[in-house]
Amino acid sequence: MALHHNRASRLTTAPGFARHGAASCAIWLAREMPVLLEGISALVGLEPNRMTARSPRRSEQEGKFWKTKALEEMSNAEWESLCDGCGRCCLNKLEDEDTGRIYYTHISCKLLDAGLCACKDYPNRSAQVPDCVRLTPDNVRSLSWLPHSCGYKLAAEQRDLYWWHPLISGSSETVHEAGVSVRGRVEASEDTVPDEELENHIVSWPAQLPRRAMLKKRPTK
Ligand code: SF4
Ligand code: SF4
Repeated sequence: MALHHNRASRLTTAPGFARHGAASCAIWLAREMPVLLEGISALVGLEPNRMTARSPRRSEQEGKFWKTKALEEMSNAEWESLCDGCGRCCLNKLEDEDTGRIYYTHISCKLLDAGLCACKDYPNRSAQVPDCVRLTPDNVRSLSWLPHSCGYKLAAEQRDLYWWHPLISGSSETVHEAGVSVRGRVEASEDTVPDEELENHIVSWPAQLPRRAMLKKRPTK
């Protein structure tokens, strides 16, 4: 298996145009299929394990800007606010050159503050990390390494945001509470891990969601 180093990144404001469906992640699908089906069933109004459809339930998020606006129509502030602050996109990834399959590692970009789950020099990130990929309305729809829970992906698909997204919870802490962020899970910065050793740091959790994160509402403690 020939693996190719691939870096991800966060946002920017840029007008995009084309529309394309998001790619699926094989690791996530394999591990989370039962939960995924349950979640999809709830979203589209299908009862789990049954083939009958109910009339779709109206989302409480109808009318919110991420449900009504195309990515290209959003203001700068709206675009920026779609980021949930998970930090998953700032983990180093490996791509199988033969199959295109993406493998996440728990090694972060050198500019990621793994505690805050934020870029240490966001305004100058491109100068400091030239292969940091700026998200745009166009590439959000096609980048296969963006996690499925990413606020940009969800908005591109006009799906509901999860309960732990700051736009829903009103708090930047819930992404950590839900176990979605990389806080406490980054093993090391790329500064300290040679490229040829990245293969030893492949992990599956960045492509998955904990059960509590998949719930419709914030669980009571
Ligand atoms: S929501 Fe998470 S994966 Fe998406 S851009 Fe923000 S930090 Fe990255
Ligand atoms: S430069 Fe900043 S935004 Fe880009 S991948 Fe690194 S930590 Fe993330």
